[in-house]
Amino acid sequence: MLDRFITLLKKGEVVAFPTETVYGLGADAQNPDAIKKVFETKGRPSDNPLIVHVSDQKQVKQFATNISEDARKLMDTFWPGPLTLIFKKKPEVLDLITAGLDTVALRWPKHPLSQELIALAGPLVAPSANSSGKPSPTKAEHVKEDFGKDFPVVEAGETAIGLESTVLDISSEPYTIYRPGAISAQEIANIIHKNVEYKSTKSQETTAKSPGTKYTHYTPDASVQWLKENPHIADNTLYLLHSRTISDGKNMIQYEGNFNKMAHELYDRFRQADHLGYTAIAIEPFSDDQYDNPIVQALQNRISKAIG
Ligand code: AMP
Ligand code: MG
Repeated sequence: MLDRFITLLKKGEVVAFPTETVYGLGADAQNPDAIKKVFETKGRPSDNPLIVHVSDQKQVKQFATNISEDARKLMDTFWPGPLTLIFKKKPEVLDLITAGLDTVALRWPKHPLSQELIALAGPLVAPSANSSGKPSPTKAEHVKEDFGKDFPVVEAGETAIGLESTVLDISSEPYTIYRPGAISAQEIANIIHKNVEYKSTKSQETTAKSPGTKYTHYTPDASVQWLKENPHIADNTLYLLHSRTISDGKNMIQYEGNFNKMAHELYDRFRQADHLGYTAIAIEPFSDDQYDNPIVQALQNRISKAIG
């Protein structure tokens, strides 16, 4: 089933494929022309580095140096899975991938089709398969919305998690999370017995070390906002609620404390809101105790960025 896609990748073309987080836009990590096509297809700024996707731990050595004991423990525990690790890079890693940084981001995704594709076509750079600035794709049809109906996509239904991986820099200490995801700072700290920092604000230090964090992301055309305490209810607003009830109505989406489901559906709701003509999306804010849940931290991060 993957033959056609492997042939395309080996010819230097780009192909979208499912991972357990979101759909990725894959290209051969050894082929500069193929990598350029990734930036062109997405309209991605060239100073935003790409994550290289591997299909086993051995491939890490092709890209990274100084693979520490902590790195081993993290890979053994969380790979394959939604954790991207940033290592010091080998000199031969293409600058196109790393945007000229001295580090490289690596991840082994869990979806069986992504694993098969990488095992047969080689390590792939793979940012999310959306036009830059749009919500990440969690269904094959989202990819086709952005890149056209004939775009090559390995189709496999909806992605399980629905939000992008945790990005953790282990190239220098203290280890720092640049992007929260399904795997939390606490879970990571429990494995390596070291403090893990997460800077939720856009500090200059973070944008220099992980340039992607400075760009607007995840934005539908509808205006995204936090739901107010006493909101004025409008028909042209879509409401995403996890704890409160306001009223019945097809524009009231209730998650009843199921934050994993909310994460799984968030980007699809963003895209649907545009198709259905909603002009605003009002999302119930999270409380401090809910914020202990890693997926709530990831939701908070993506929603804040969508608000801008
Ligand atoms: P995307 O694949 O589009 O979901 O985004 C990849 C994220 O990983 C972006 O926020 C990048 O800035 C970040 N990233 C990729 N490579 C590096 C690196 N070498 N150092 C720091 N951040 C990185
Ligand atoms: Mg992205």
